[in-house]
Formats: sequence, structure tokens, C-alpha cells
Amino acid sequence: MSVLARVGVGPLCVAARAVMPCFWRGKYFSSGREPVENQVTPMLRHLIYKIKATGPITVAEYMKEVLTNPAKGYYVYRDMLGEKGDFITSPEISQIFGELLGIWFISEWMATGKNAAFQLVELGPGRGTLLGDVLRVFSQLGSVLKNCDISVHLVEVSEKLSEVQASALMEEKVPLERDPGSSVYMKGVTKSGIPISWYRDLQDVPEGYGFYLAHEFFDVLPVHKFQKTPQGWREVFVDIDPQASDKLRFVLAPCVTPAEVFIQPDETRDHVEVCPEAGVTIQELSQRIARTGGAALIADYGHDGTKTDTFRGFCGHKLHDVLVAPGTADLTADVDFSYLRRMAEGKVASLGPIKQQTFLKNMGIDVRLKVLLDKSDEPSRQQLLQGYDMLMNPKKMGERFHFFALLPHQRLHGGSHPTNACQSKPSLSPVAGFGELAWR
Ligand code: SAH
Repeated sequence: MSVLARVGVGPLCVAARAVMPCFWRGKYFSSGREPVENQVTPMLRHLIYKIKATGPITVAEYMKEVLTNPAKGYYVYRDMLGEKGDFITSPEISQIFGELLGIWFISEWMATGKNAAFQLVELGPGRGTLLGDVLRVFSQLGSVLKNCDISVHLVEVSEKLSEVQASALMEEKVPLERDPGSSVYMKGVTKSGIPISWYRDLQDVPEGYGFYLAHEFFDVLPVHKFQKTPQGWREVFVDIDPQASDKLRFVLAPCVTPAEVFIQPDETRDHVEVCPEAGVTIQELSQRIARTGGAALIADYGHDGTKTDTFRGFCGHKLHDVLVAPGTADLTADVDFSYLRRMAEGKVASLGPIKQQTFLKNMGIDVRLKVLLDKSDEPSRQQLLQGYDMLMNPKKMGERFHFFALLPHQRLHGGSHPTNACQSKPSLSPVAGFGELAWR
């Protein structure tokens, strides 16, 4: 029997997911300029004081302040996901998405020698929906994972979302240990009995053989923006509009800025976005995977070093001017996978980016959909079919979203791995998703 049938239908036959249509953040190709009422938000006031005191700020600093400022950041105190929020993501649309990712991790765990223990680390877990679907697959394939010691580690800056995650993933009755001053700020046990811990930074997650998951995480990390001018590359800054003291505007730096080192010497575009924080995160993931084994699966909307101005805002499922009413809307920029690949080079191997449609097809989404449809009633069938269309349709999320993986070199090219040396020799089976799922 196929693994996709063995996962079963589960206690959540068809988990309640968003009613279409909703807005996903990868939908537009360039920044929006829709008229939105200018509102003097606490964040705008804070930014105006800051710019008055120290001068114009980079777009990266602007994005970081607006999204993750500990006192007023957009992500820190609200649940912005889902129908009532500002945007919707794949796991919130269909349970199949997380189920197939759960199978991907088990398939990689098996292909690399079935280590006695592994850590599952998720960066930016949102509402915990994706992880909930992954963990349900782990429980349903308990016979495959039996005797494997699993722990879950979440990297999350949002106080509000960490609470939402805890209530989605943990039994209500089990108390949560809290220590706001510690690098592990919350701890508990999931509904299926797996230890779970929360951190603000990947650096704080203990190192160990593990799988890393980042879905729609890299697109919210701050980008620097550069414009080619007759004088050379100039960085874009955010300044106060001289015509209206409560408005912001973009300006070009009059001279070269330090971040210019991130631009490739052979760059042919005339506008470039660079995300050094993504580079640091990829380097950290790569070093960990090279040292202790495992893999990272990154899924996001993005491009392979070809796009120019992708910085945009979302509020209430609508495009929102990035400089208007800061703190009330999500800010995002497409992920440059060519940059992520360069940051991983020499340490680990990378696969992708490949289109979401291809990845999910290779993972067996059609078989999984059929299993669920066969066992569902009519309203649930409609929901499953709509969800499938949203994830797979090339005009919807199928071609805009991509999958990218980091793996130890040995996984693709052979050779023994330090942590698996005394275990069965890993077979060089194709990496699921990037090729067909071979495991039955
Ligand atoms: N992965 C989820 C949510 C995506 S939204 C999904 O697909 O549904 C982005 C998530 O990243 C949120 O949980 C947000 O709070 C978190 N986040 C944003 N910036 C972060 C940072 N610098 N460090 C850790 N988490 C961050």
C-alpha cells in the first residue's frame, strides 16, 4: 500500500481550512501603489523621530522595524494569517500540503540511515498549522518512526503567534513552561507527546541531526534595495517627505553605502534587492547540516536572480503601499534563490528551486487527494478540490511558489556521514519532491 494511503484520513478527515478566495502574498509582481488612507500609526511616529534624529534609513532597517520591532512590530502582537487576517498561506489552504512535507522528512530520514533521533526545527511557524499536519503524519506513520526520539524546535519572534502555535499543537491541560528571559522562552509537550521548545533565534536551537523547515519565512526578512544610476549603484533609503511631514518617501543615497558589497560584479539588472539576513540564516543552516546531518526544506515565492522591484505590502487581503500606515500591513519581498544557493555553496549541496506544482506532484499529491476524496462528504470534497486548485494551478500558487533544499554533499554524491557511521549505509535514492517519491 502506498505511504499516502497509509497516512490515512486521520481524526481530521478534512481539516477546516480557509474558504476561497483569499489572497496569498506571492500574487503580485511589483510593489503596490493602491490609494490607502494615510494614518499616523505609532510605528510611523517612531520612524519619523528616528529619521529626524539619525537621518534616512535603509529599506532593510525600515522593514525590520516595521515587522519585528519588539514594542510595535507588525508580527509581534497580532495573528495576521487566514481569512480574517492580511494574507493566506498554503498550509492554511489545504491539509495535504503539510502532510506531503511530513512524508518528505520521513523519506529523507529513511534515505539517510534512520538515525535514532532527530530534531524538527521550523522557522516562522505562523499559526502552527503546517507543523500540526506534519506531526499528524508522524503519528500516523508511528510504526515507521517507532523508537525514533523526536523533538520539535520553533523559531518565532511573535509573542502572539507563539501563543497561537502552543494552543494548536499542545494539549490544553498540559501546562506550558515560560521563561521570557531565557533563549528557550517556552517549553511543553505536543498532543502526540513530543517535547517542543520556542526560541527567538536559530542560533539558540541546540545543534543535532535535524530537519529544518521554512515556509514563507525568508520573504519577510529585511532586504536592501539598490538602483543602478549613471554614477553607479545607489542604495534606496526611506526619508520624511519634505512636502508632508507625516509621510515617508523613497530617496537614493547620494554616495556608495556599505551594503553595496552584496551586489555581484557581473550584475545585469538595474534594480536589485539583497537580503543579508537570509544569507546569514542559510550559512547557519548549511554549517549545521554539514556538521551533524539532516536537511533543510525551504518553500517560498521567489526567483532565481532575475527579478527587480518585488517589495510590497498586504493588508486585509489587499495590496498596500509599503510606506503608508507602517505597522498595520505585512511587508514582503520575493526570495532570491540564486543568492541562497551562493550562501550554501561549499558547505552543503542544494536542490531547486523547483515549482510548487512539480514538487507536490512528485510527492504524490494526486494520490493523496484521491484517498481523501474517496472518504469525504460533499462539502469537504469541494473544499479539497478548491484547495488542490489553489496549490497546483500555475496561475495561482503552482508556479509562483518554489521549493529549495539543503542537503549534506554525501546525500547526493555518496560517502559516509559522521552521525550515521555505525548504522546501515545510506542508499542514494532520489530526493523526494525533486524526483518522484520512491518510498512505498
Ligand atoms: N510558516 C507560516 C507563517 C508564515 S508568516 C505559514 O506558512 O503559514 C512568517 C512567520 O515568520 C510568522 O510566524 C512570523 O511571526 C515569523 N517571523 C517573522 N520574522 C521573523 C524573524 N526574524 N525570526 C523568527 N520568526 C519570524
